[in-house]
Amino acid sequence: MNFDFDNHIHTVYSGHSDSAMTVSNIIKRSEEAGLTQVAITEHSFDWHLGPRGNLELIKQELASTSTDINVSVGMEIDPDMEKYGSLHFEDFDRDELFPVLVGFHGYPGASKGWFEKINFTRRDKNRIYSRWLKMVEKLIENPKVDVLAHLGRIIMQNDITNEFSGRILKDFENIALAAKQYNVAFEINETLLDNMPTETLQKSYKNVLSIMLENGVKLSLGSDAHKLDKIGKFNKVLEFIKPFNININNFLTITQGKQNGKEIHTH
Ligand SMILES: [Zn+2]
Ligand SMILES: [Zn+2]
Repeated sequence: MNFDFDNHIHTVYSGHSDSAMTVSNIIKRSEEAGLTQVAITEHSFDWHLGPRGNLELIKQELASTSTDINVSVGMEIDPDMEKYGSLHFEDFDRDELFPVLVGFHGYPGASKGWFEKINFTRRDKNRIYSRWLKMVEKLIENPKVDVLAHLGRIIMQNDITNEFSGRILKDFENIALAAKQYNVAFEINETLLDNMPTETLQKSYKNVLSIMLENGVKLSLGSDAHKLDKIGKFNKVLEFIKPFNININNFLTITQGKQNGKEIHTH
């Protein structure tokens, strides 16, 4: 399968992307890569002008760049760690952003970044896991959420979860059921697949995808590019999905999302 869309791209305004990741360069690179639909999804971090300011800036730059491809502005938003089911930044209208990705970049209940090496006790790990699970379940019910970005990455770090098998899969089944019910997509994230902490996690993560597919959950494709040459590159994704019967209809695209988005998402 050949993908011509990418739902997860960062810009210079993340504060940690390559300095060439300007909106116009992203569009140019997407055109060169033959993409037809891309989403710019900057972090909601309080970096540069903050989520609202960065969003306006990205929209302005987009407006002054001419292109034939479909470019959407979304955001990758962290959960509110204090309020289960809420987002760190929620002050936007539903039709302002698409897609809204929710991604954990810190540990629930421990103010540490996901990339830090931490010696959690078994008790800490269990506590983080159960908070994470409860948060994910609540976030799915949030009508502003479209996609679960790199689902499970935070619990793969520091040995919180060693393997996606056994009892934990029951939790993923519940996540899948809710995701289907609330029309929230499961992201297949190239950067995550390229940086799995262990081989066991890498292999067993296929069980998670399998559960999502069995339950009819939509997939969202994202490079999570922080560099121009990563835009629209899906080598690991292609390898990962090979054993499955997946076609383009499994994926949430921008055109589709804008048409039916979260209309079924009533409360
Ligand atoms: Zn992320
Ligand atoms: Zn990202």
